[in-house]
Amino acid sequence: MWSVVLDEIKHQRRATVEAARNDAMNLATAFEAHVHSAIRLMDIVLLDMREDVLEHSDFQQYVHEELQAYGSFVTQLAVIDRNGLLVFSNLAPSVKPVDLSDREHFRVHRDNPQEDRLFISKPVLGRVSKQWTIQFTRPIHQNGEFAGVLVLSVPTSFFADYYQQINVGPNGTIALVGTDRSLRAIASGTPIPGRYGRFKLPEDRPYFDPKAPAHGYYEGVSSIDGDYRLGAYRRLPAESVVVVVLLAPKDFMASFHERKELLIASAGIISLLLSLVALLLFVLSSRYFQSTDRLRQAHDQLAQLANTDVLTGISSRRSFLASLEAELTRARRHNESLSLLMLDIDHFKRVNDVHGHPIGDAVLKQFTATCAGMLRAHDLFGRLGGEEFAVALPHTDTEGALSVAEKIRTAIEQMPIATSVGDIHITVSIGLAQADAGEHEVEQLIARADKALYEAKHGGRNRVCAAEPRPFDCPSA
Ligand code: GH3
Ligand code: MG
Ligand code: MG
Repeated sequence: MWSVVLDEIKHQRRATVEAARNDAMNLATAFEAHVHSAIRLMDIVLLDMREDVLEHSDFQQYVHEELQAYGSFVTQLAVIDRNGLLVFSNLAPSVKPVDLSDREHFRVHRDNPQEDRLFISKPVLGRVSKQWTIQFTRPIHQNGEFAGVLVLSVPTSFFADYYQQINVGPNGTIALVGTDRSLRAIASGTPIPGRYGRFKLPEDRPYFDPKAPAHGYYEGVSSIDGDYRLGAYRRLPAESVVVVVLLAPKDFMASFHERKELLIASAGIISLLLSLVALLLFVLSSRYFQSTDRLRQAHDQLAQLANTDVLTGISSRRSFLASLEAELTRARRHNESLSLLMLDIDHFKRVNDVHGHPIGDAVLKQFTATCAGMLRAHDLFGRLGGEEFAVALPHTDTEGALSVAEKIRTAIEQMPIATSVGDIHITVSIGLAQADAGEHEVEQLIARADKALYEAKHGGRNRVCAAEPRPFDCPSA
């Protein structure tokens, strides 16, 4: 999901920048047309006035009438004589002559007396009008000689006010720039101190390069406020000016950022919800696994308890019989021998009677430990109940079983059992039977071994009896 969201953001960013470039170029094209026609208009006024100046000695009258007709955009119409002295201004017709010979718009015509061309000056602070104005000038020639300059002063606000009406964003800028790198007019959301004084735009701007296309895009850090700008320019070579429209990413990207934040917030909420669901699933499943784990442990414990005789720690009757059943099946399948011993402690009741039940328990434990120590790892040993035990001996025939049983009997007989009331001696009677090939039930095998045990008891106890080959012919101990 996040890769889709990030892709969408990337796409929207590109689309927004692309749209801003188009906007900037469209605006620049519109302003180029405006500048073009404004300059054309100024020139028409100038040419018109020059005719009046040359033809009518009372041209002041004409100037007055025509300026009224041209409206408020002209601050001043002035005539400078061949020496650079202001000899006429419609603003102050009777002031003493002001020396303007140092002004560029005078010098440019005086120094090129053969040329009759329109000159557009950089903004100057009028000595008479006290306003920042751009001078549109034409030379006056009399009898083929330079006779002075006709000056039309147009306030920078004529352009700037018009630009100001156009929404280029709070940080956008529209500027009319001379190819001499001085601003002619500017409208910007950012205040520009001293914009018309000595301020010069940096040389590296692409529109100052005469080899660069007449129009194009421009991206970079603004010399006005040091912020990054995206812009478009259109150069008017004949008029030596460039129209520049700069848009600020913080303006045109604002809506994109809003959309981006919305997208990220939505994706974030969805991620959060998904994480919560995942967390919930994790908690529930871990609880489930924990509980099943505990259940399994409890089950194992229960099974362990059910399979183990609590007093002696060996197999319980139930577990022993189940194992014997499996062992018998296996032996039959592989045609192997298997013998069963039944053990019963002799006169055990007396132990309890004489020494008490706890001592009886201790004797049972010691008896079990001694027997277990004499058995192989794969022999089965279980307590069938009370003081009766059984041993299953896989891979063992009657002869082998007799020897195991005899070893156990002897060990028990000879072992003093240490208890809190002193050493106790016990004996054990053992009956044994080897599983028959045709014997299918565990019960039958047990019954035969039991019978042999019975014989051992009746034969005098502390002895081993086998069911075969010599049934009930039990040796005496
Ligand atoms: P026999 O030689 O004929 O086997 O005589 P016996 O006394 O061993 O046999 P009997 O069956 O008469 O007595 C078995 C006794 O074993 C009776 C009972 O009190 C005792 N007994 C059975 N289970 C336990 C036990 O878990 N702990 C103790 N201390 N005694 C037990
Ligand atoms: Mg008994
Ligand atoms: Mg007994």
